[in-house]
Amino acid sequence: TEPAPGAAKKAPARKTTARKTTAADNAPAVIEVRNPGTGAVVGTVPAVTADEVAAKVRELRLYQPEWEAIGPNGRKEWLLKFQDWLIDNTETIADVVQSETGKPRVDSLIDPAFATDLVGYYARRAAKFLADDHPSPHSPLARVKKLTTAYKPYPVVGVITPWNFPVAMPALDVFPALAAGAAVILKPSEVTPLSALEMARGWAEIGAPPIFAVVTGAGATGGAVVENADYIQFTGSTATGRKIAVACAERMVPYSLELGGKDPAIVLADADLDRAAHGIAFGGMFNSGQVCISVERVYVEAPVYDEFVAKLTANVKALRQGIDGRESKHDVGALANENQTSIVQRHVDEAVAAGAKVLTGGKRAGFGTAFEPTVLVDVDHTMSCITEETFGPTLPVMKVADEAEAIRLANDSIYGLSATVWTGDKDHGDRVARQLNAGAVNINDVFSNLFSFALPMGGWGMSGTGARWGGANGVRKYCRQQAITTPIL
Ligand code: NAD
Repeated sequence: TEPAPGAAKKAPARKTTARKTTAADNAPAVIEVRNPGTGAVVGTVPAVTADEVAAKVRELRLYQPEWEAIGPNGRKEWLLKFQDWLIDNTETIADVVQSETGKPRVDSLIDPAFATDLVGYYARRAAKFLADDHPSPHSPLARVKKLTTAYKPYPVVGVITPWNFPVAMPALDVFPALAAGAAVILKPSEVTPLSALEMARGWAEIGAPPIFAVVTGAGATGGAVVENADYIQFTGSTATGRKIAVACAERMVPYSLELGGKDPAIVLADADLDRAAHGIAFGGMFNSGQVCISVERVYVEAPVYDEFVAKLTANVKALRQGIDGRESKHDVGALANENQTSIVQRHVDEAVAAGAKVLTGGKRAGFGTAFEPTVLVDVDHTMSCITEETFGPTLPVMKVADEAEAIRLANDSIYGLSATVWTGDKDHGDRVARQLNAGAVNINDVFSNLFSFALPMGGWGMSGTGARWGGANGVRKYCRQQAITTPIL
């Protein structure tokens, strides 16, 4: 491959050696990766040590200035080459995603497709987004100056990701950070590290400068990234996010946390019930409910409750569950690991023990970690299925007297990631949206905000601090702002 103009020199060959286990060290040196649908081991990766992470960050620091120096247009060439690589390798990447997640084929293809869209968005717009600002002076003192805000990237951004979309999740933040001119060290989930290694393979294959590295391992490896990088972008559970916030505060290092959710769906009496039932079934069951913005609880106005529940249950019952090959035969696959299955089972069991009814599903699906798509009714706000993030294929549904009660209950959560409102009147939907404590609200649809990189994606409350994307903010967040005053005269 022809190197892009001004490209940095190649790094020495990557070495990620597994450490030897000693008697005093119980952490495994090698992590086995399994297909949760079949239980088969599909690969092994090293648990990269803290020292190795520190060395990798030092190496990235050496190459980053040249990556910054080639500017957004130089970086665009590499990022668009990577986009081509993603397109050429979509099927192979989907194979790896599928093998370590147990997802249906169609869902596995979404991972590289999403990354392809995102890398193009930031590659093409970074120059505009990173251009200096020249605000107008407001005071007599400043009036004789030209005012400039310049954006200078953090040298090394640490990106730590969960397992639910093993290519898309890293892509959400790795590409904006690279477009900003930072080097990136990615620590993917230990449950699904193979897909991230595919991304690293692609970056090396196109001959791009060695400013993107993947370190595999569990929490300790992630902790070492937090100890060494200059900005931490974390996606994962609220519990881990809190630990990372504390560690970053100690080091005075900025961070952005994209955490868990318990997204409500509000079905108003004027809604198109077929559309709502379809959308909510998809929003609750897509990726087996393992999406941070999955629908996790549903509030339905009393006059349409019975009809809606019947339609929703029919939609959920119609879903085909199983293990796919390359052909796509199923809508729902396995859960990521046994831990997830046990959380889902506990939420269902606790609800049923407290008086809830299962209308469909409610038990394991009979292969691997899979759990049947489940609809629960007669639930309330004392139950774990309503108060805790489930991150599985369950839709607990509550009847509410009116819109005010729906809004009050939707806001009765420690989380505030996103929400959906279903109505026949878009203005009505907008009025309800503005009363919800959520970082995003989709009206008559699910996930639309996830496909709108021009909008910010960030949670309120225990769902996080900061936000990703939001057009220019998506790259500017990875930069320090510098104020420059220049005399006009
Ligand atoms: P997790 O918090 O267990 O792990 C996330 C990542 O953090 C993993 O790579 C893990 O190895 C690493 N990690 C664990 N302990 C660490 C530590 N002390 N220091 C540094 N890194 C550490 O989360 P998970 O179970 O992998 O993912 C599921 C969660 O992710 C859910 O809560 C879901 O809502 C959330 N999520 C949020 C978004 C969002 O954009 N808001 C998107 C997807 C998933």
